[in-house]
Amino acid sequence: MIAPGATIGILGGGQLGRMLALAAANMGYRVHIFAPEEELPAGDVAAHVTRAAYDDNAALDAFASAVDVVTYEFENVPVAAVERLERRVPVRPGARALDVAQDRLAEKTFITGLGGTPAPFRAVAGEAELIAALAAIGTPAVLKTRRMGYDGKGQARIATPGDAAAAWAAIGGAPAIVEAHVTFAGEFSVILARGHDGATMVYDVPHNIHVGGILDRSEVPAPPAIAAHGTAAVVLARRAAQALDYVGVLTLEFFATDAGPVFNEMAPRVHNSGHWTIEGARVSQFENHIRAVCGLPLGPTTLTAAAVTMTNLLGEAVHDWAALLADPSAHLHLYGKSEVKPGRGPEPNPTTGVEGAMATNRDTLERQMREAAAAGKFELAAKLRDDLRALAEVDAARAAGGLHRQQPGAMGLGTSRQAVEPPPGWTPPKRPDPMTANRSKPRGPRRPG
Ligand code: AMP
Repeated sequence: MIAPGATIGILGGGQLGRMLALAAANMGYRVHIFAPEEELPAGDVAAHVTRAAYDDNAALDAFASAVDVVTYEFENVPVAAVERLERRVPVRPGARALDVAQDRLAEKTFITGLGGTPAPFRAVAGEAELIAALAAIGTPAVLKTRRMGYDGKGQARIATPGDAAAAWAAIGGAPAIVEAHVTFAGEFSVILARGHDGATMVYDVPHNIHVGGILDRSEVPAPPAIAAHGTAAVVLARRAAQALDYVGVLTLEFFATDAGPVFNEMAPRVHNSGHWTIEGARVSQFENHIRAVCGLPLGPTTLTAAAVTMTNLLGEAVHDWAALLADPSAHLHLYGKSEVKPGRGPEPNPTTGVEGAMATNRDTLERQMREAAAAGKFELAAKLRDDLRALAEVDAARAAGGLHRQQPGAMGLGTSRQAVEPPPGWTPPKRPDPMTANRSKPRGPRRPG
């Protein structure tokens, strides 16, 4: 076990590293970021930063001696760097998961071997092979570079076999896979945390809505047509984690189709479709990753509200922060990267994001509390009841003249007024306490899978 007070090394310094560092700091750990970029969102909140290339062996060795354990926040860290570190310090998850996840061919072969179903695919190393592969899998299809692809980059759509040459040129002629275009009802991800002892906790599967290949928002719970695929996908994700002897948070992305969940890709790390877990789950993916990496017991992944939505702010939308925070249920997470340039238009800026989570509007809370109690979710019902009581106390304090508008900056909200304004016609609830009214009901399983 790596006890609080120790230093956790993180390879990569983006927003995921920043959120990991914040979770680590909450538990008394120091974080040391290793990344080559000048601008490091994680660097702002870390105790130490090494700015060096991943093939700078002297810097890697010095980093290994300065930290107690190493993890990574993105999957394109060279495997050789991780293998070098592994000889000196524990790296969790290790080089194997990275090796598999960096190569779309290795990843799909690995998942197929575990009984999972990716879209029909072929490896292609040249235009002639691409044409032959298209004859086998048909069109429409998607051509993807095997390595370094993300957010739809390194991809080309193929509508008819005649598009092959243009698609091959578009991806720069790099080793690739071509896969059948999947018709899906929606996309979702399985995010799990696995401890060194094999204990595994799984989050509720978010429905992920992509726009232009980039995640636009994640919604939990997923609609029934998508959630119905959750159990099979969770079984596969657990199998993958076990096969890799995985320690940390692992994410698998899926398409929900008529034929069941179709595997898309795997990320050996915390995931942007899991940002909502910061406020929307009892213990976030970031904290559970740090717990796993340090050998601490994992925390519960249950929802803290009946519904949570994470919205990714792209480009100039980040300037709307004041309006966004006027919604008392919203939480804002800015990543501390450069200013978004005015007039940037629709070009996405994946560096800034916002999470909207948890209804605090009172009538919504009351409805959610009743629904939770009726569904036997007593823990959630109790939390919502506590929230309602807290709001009633705030009202009483205001009526007595004891409550003032909160100053901007305090708790990150412009004012607390919106959070406690009763909806028109609202009267305090005079219902039986759901905790006692439903006590005789059996407690159902609380987690899928
Ligand atoms: P990826 O980088 O592979 O996650 O792809 C980015 C996005 O492109 C996915 O989230 C899907 O929205 C879409 N996409 C990728 N592959 C396919 C496919 N085979 N069929 C349909 N849509 C796809």
